[in-house]
Amino acid sequence: MRVATFHWQGREAVGVVDGDEIVDVSGVAPSMLALVQGGSAALEAARQAAGQAQRLRLDQVRLLAPFPRPTKNVFCLGLNYKDHVAEGARSRSMDLKLPEYPVWFTKAVTSICGPYDDIPVDSAISTQYDWEVELAVIVGPAGRRIPKERVFEHVWGYCVFNDFSVRDIQRRHGGQWFKGKSLDRASPMGPWLVSADEVPRPDHLQVISRVNGELKQNANTEQMIFDIPTMLADLSEVLTLEPGDIIATGTPSGVGFARTPPEFLKPGDVMETEIEGLGLLRNRIVADS
Ligand code: ZN
Repeated sequence: MRVATFHWQGREAVGVVDGDEIVDVSGVAPSMLALVQGGSAALEAARQAAGQAQRLRLDQVRLLAPFPRPTKNVFCLGLNYKDHVAEGARSRSMDLKLPEYPVWFTKAVTSICGPYDDIPVDSAISTQYDWEVELAVIVGPAGRRIPKERVFEHVWGYCVFNDFSVRDIQRRHGGQWFKGKSLDRASPMGPWLVSADEVPRPDHLQVISRVNGELKQNANTEQMIFDIPTMLADLSEVLTLEPGDIIATGTPSGVGFARTPPEFLKPGDVMETEIEGLGLLRNRIVADS
């Protein structure tokens, strides 16, 4: 099932997406977090409710990020595709060194924006705004010290994510990426969550980004260094994963800073982020004034 958070007639609602229509199921789940916390029973109730409720056309409503304000920072994996690690090393004339353990960092909750929202950037702060298509994993039932072979029992579903990055800020704050990854309202997510039962092979999904229609990233999740079982087992070794936690699983090669010459986003550009079977985000970069 596909479920989205949307804004319609002055309120925020949760809806089941069916083709180019959306059905308000806020009666059974007042928020996306409530839906995810409710597990399979809530999902089934939403499915039932969707059969009876009023249908709206998707273009009549404004889709928001599935979690407009997540309960925690987004957990992100850095350096999880070999060709991306290689392009980063090459662009800085360093030797290629693959990570031995997953490299974790987080993004502030205020960095999240909707699937079609404008992204405000300020050239006085930086001119190095960059794209990163990523598969996001949404945690379902809570778990701590989850063994690899049981990880998928704790996955609610998936969505498209762009780990929007401010490269000079990311670099200059010595080995800690948090600030460069946390620009306000710049990391789009969505356009909806797709429940895990509809994504039988999350390790075989094409991940794509485009800028102004030009292909920039085009890879497959099978190229990940650390797969989904490894990353959730690793993180849950020390912290309890909870319903609604978001895990961004890393980006492949083709980002702006590593291109020759480097390319960055500027006002007027349109960034598209797409994952096979999950959907497409389209965001215009605008001047933050
Ligand atoms: Zn990333």
